[in-house]
Amino acid sequence: MAKQKKTAINPRRDQDYPGWYQEVVKAADMAENSDVRGCMVIKPWGYTIWENIQKNLDIMFKDTGHENAYFPLFIPKSFFEKEAKHVEGFAKECAVVTHTRLEDDKKGGLQPAGKLTEELIVRPTSETIIGASFSKWINSYRDLPLLINQWANVVRWEMRTRLFLRTTEFLWQEGHTAHATKKEALEETSKMLGIYADFAENFLAMPVIKGEKTESERFPGALTTFSIEAMMQDKKALQSGTSHFLGLNFSKASNIKFQNKEGREEYAWTTSWGVSTRLIGALIMAHSDDDGLVLPPKIAPSHIVMIPIYRNEEEQTNVMNFIDELIVKLKKMRYNEEKIRYKIDDRDMRGGEKLWDWIKKGVPIRLEIGPRDIENNSVFMGRRDKDAKDKTGMNVDNFVNDLTDILDDIQHNIFTKALKFRDENTIDIDDKDAFYKFFTPENKNNPEIHGGFAKSHWCGSAECEEKIKDDLKVTIRCIPFDETEENGKCICCGKKSNKRVIFAKAY
Ligand SMILES: [Zn+2]
Repeated sequence: MAKQKKTAINPRRDQDYPGWYQEVVKAADMAENSDVRGCMVIKPWGYTIWENIQKNLDIMFKDTGHENAYFPLFIPKSFFEKEAKHVEGFAKECAVVTHTRLEDDKKGGLQPAGKLTEELIVRPTSETIIGASFSKWINSYRDLPLLINQWANVVRWEMRTRLFLRTTEFLWQEGHTAHATKKEALEETSKMLGIYADFAENFLAMPVIKGEKTESERFPGALTTFSIEAMMQDKKALQSGTSHFLGLNFSKASNIKFQNKEGREEYAWTTSWGVSTRLIGALIMAHSDDDGLVLPPKIAPSHIVMIPIYRNEEEQTNVMNFIDELIVKLKKMRYNEEKIRYKIDDRDMRGGEKLWDWIKKGVPIRLEIGPRDIENNSVFMGRRDKDAKDKTGMNVDNFVNDLTDILDDIQHNIFTKALKFRDENTIDIDDKDAFYKFFTPENKNNPEIHGGFAKSHWCGSAECEEKIKDDLKVTIRCIPFDETEENGKCICCGKKSNKRVIFAKAY
């Protein structure tokens, strides 16, 4: 057996994937568990990634005519009760506010007092409270379409939580739109899924499959739910964004009506769509390796880290002057229409230790700059998409000239690697035994990484879907848009089917 290479993250992915994930988050100093069960503290490195996600998505939303607004954190219970399916879907995970103040309990503590006549729900999603505003804002066909987005936090009372992937409170955006026709609302639902897919692939470097959810996986109250699904390195799927066509369900519940051109009253057609801090979890699991986080340049908090190397004061002055000159050049440059983001790590500690810190944080480019480099007017460059020891000396002017190409190359390599991994682990399966074998680990006690995306036929029945879920914990991730119709047999019952769907284990 070949000697196992020493890795910066322990356990490795192949040893304990969930353990590896936690260590990557910790080693990159992105987030930590808080004293409030299930809630996370997002630290600056993690939060800056969220800000970069936010910033770029926000531009895409606004370019397609949406505007931001803000609605209350609390939803009156009666609002929530208006849409039956919605209630059914969210009731079990709601935080409910019942009192309005605290009083001395005469035992040295506090007790809640001032019981509310109507309880308030901390928003798990805002369809109902935004619907109440829409019903006031929309009167005529001239008020449509109404295209609103909200950046906010939401609360869903989760019993089992994991940083970024599933937390009781999380950050997200929720788009809510109202339209005069069904056609327009359906177009909006598709358009926003397209934006999510574009963002996931071009910014997060994460290939995704666009498709429709089955009825059992639909958003509570929606007529149609579309999603983008990405493959993580443990071959499980992660739903990375959803877009819902809500039909008239919420407009009827919230009384969102308008007068059409002929003067008749009609209900508006609504949509909603969202992505959350879960995307950061997806990003980590799609790209990171056994040395830590790997960040696509377009969303990395820093594109470059510069590590000055010197032994005495004179060398320090020279090195820092050299870095200052380089920064003057970097400040004039733009990557992806944004300033070049850089950090100088001048901490008083060993160079090797610093380098590994930044490898674990996933910075795309590391520059070591010492007296010898200055003499040659060069920098010593390491890239996060390559082996840690694979470093190149580069003339500093060439580096500046090539910088945006290098960043593009890193962005591209990260995407290509993830796409290759997904393609290698996506297979057509037509035989039931093969399907069960595919999703069953050989080691039952300590399951190895197994499975992947199985493209198999499904008859469309909820029973077959349920049976596979019960047997294997495998769900239909989506009915892909780009799958061509063909005759086949349901992988579960053998009945006729005309299309393959994506089956996988999922987060
Ligand atoms: Zn079937």
